[in-house]
Amino acid sequence: MELDKMDENDWKYHGEGNKSLVVSHLQHCRVLRLLKFPSEDSAHTRQTAEQAFRHILNIVDYSKYVMKPLLGEKYVHSGEVVKLPLDFVRQLSLKVQQERPELRCDKVMDTFSGCGLCLPNLTQLPLHHLRDHRPPICVEIKPKCGFLPFSRHITKECKRKVCRFCMHQHYKLANGKWKRLSRYCPLDLFSGSKQRMYVALKNLLEEPQNNLKIFKGGELIFSCKDDAKQQPELNDLIQHLRPYFSHSNGLYNGHQPGKAILNEFIQVICSALLSGGDSNRSGEPRKVHLSESRPHCEASPFPRDLLRNGNHGLPKDSVLAKILQVQMLDNLDIEGIYPLYKRVEQYLEEFPKERNRLQIDGPYNESFMDKVKNCPTEDDGSVEYAVGKVHQYRVAMTAKDCSVMITFAPCEEDEEQQLKLEKPRFTYSISILDLDPKPYEGIPHQYKLDTKIVNYYLRSTQAPP
Ligand code: ATP
Ligand code: ZN
Ligand code: MG
Ligand code: MG
Repeated sequence: MELDKMDENDWKYHGEGNKSLVVSHLQHCRVLRLLKFPSEDSAHTRQTAEQAFRHILNIVDYSKYVMKPLLGEKYVHSGEVVKLPLDFVRQLSLKVQQERPELRCDKVMDTFSGCGLCLPNLTQLPLHHLRDHRPPICVEIKPKCGFLPFSRHITKECKRKVCRFCMHQHYKLANGKWKRLSRYCPLDLFSGSKQRMYVALKNLLEEPQNNLKIFKGGELIFSCKDDAKQQPELNDLIQHLRPYFSHSNGLYNGHQPGKAILNEFIQVICSALLSGGDSNRSGEPRKVHLSESRPHCEASPFPRDLLRNGNHGLPKDSVLAKILQVQMLDNLDIEGIYPLYKRVEQYLEEFPKERNRLQIDGPYNESFMDKVKNCPTEDDGSVEYAVGKVHQYRVAMTAKDCSVMITFAPCEEDEEQQLKLEKPRFTYSISILDLDPKPYEGIPHQYKLDTKIVNYYLRSTQAPP
């Protein structure tokens, strides 16, 4: 990619989240991730080009020096900062505007700094030779927090029984964010039990919200509908998937009913999530039992009497075990973190110059990672302890908000790299994306939000006698 000869016609709209907009290259397996701003930001509150560059550099450093060592080399692609011609960025912004979903248009793409992040396009398989006519399928899951908090600082008992995602659903429904409750529960996905994972994935397919997207050949084919009232089209998805699951000599003679196709599709995702990361490993992996707390959420629709069945715990190197392990760095809960945040704030008021040494806003380098890893386990009343726990909390928050991408394509019988199911066979790769640092200043907001979500949940589910 020659940065001085960028042409907007080589790129197309790919997708966006709350913080960034992504465009993909038409030929190469590359994407550009560009930051977004609230559209009402005026010119003087906007970041300077210098600040934007620093911001993106922080994102790359955080991914490279903090999240990658914690989550594993093979899952994380940190990308690189690129300086783009302003003319290219402006043309690109005009070009993608009409493709953007309405619910994301409260923010505008950064067309001022010329800074962006260049990443591999993870919805594609770069080594997927075109011997097969079927393009790769990519499943993107935003799994959210997979454990129940166990901190002694928790004041509301329901937080130990019902997971944050399930409680948050009620709050989001009340605020009009979504029109229907999702029946997905992260604790089922992170359980390691095939039955529970199956139910979790089924519920994601039925109500994807912003937790599930599916791509085919790099094109989005399944996600939540812009119009929140509309149901996603499972039948369309089945039509897309049919060529991947129609066994030529199978029972169904290539005419599997939709249900059987979805069933096999979910099995493939499950197997990938339970694997060590890529499809050239075999053997029964060691299971880990990470959660110290109750492993089931009382709001999950999974039948209680089936909980005892099956194989629990996630394989040690599986992508979900890695993510859960990092999420659990939040072992005090926001209720335990908020007082420590205030301790740091008080200290900084007295010694503002200490902000740099304590690396409150980065840089996110090995020394930041040391503070995360070597934080004392007991509170000795020091600011070092408070900063260490706050850093750990922020790292955990990133892991609670990341996405997993599973990209797979049919492979030929004789190929070595394959996920061995009955039939068909797939070659696949798994990555973790969206690993941005969460702001230190966001902690008071998180504290208030937690109270609101819990109080709303208690009010809405415990009807007066
Ligand atoms: P969020 O609101 O979830 O925090 P965000 O604004 O931080 O999102 P990302 O999640 O990084 O942005 O990117 C938005 C979307 O763009 C993703 O959900 C994904 O579909 C797509 N995307 C991001 N990075 C890549 C990549 N490297 N390859 C392919 N698609 C990508
Ligand atoms: Zn739940
Ligand atoms: Mg995202
Ligand atoms: Mg993000």
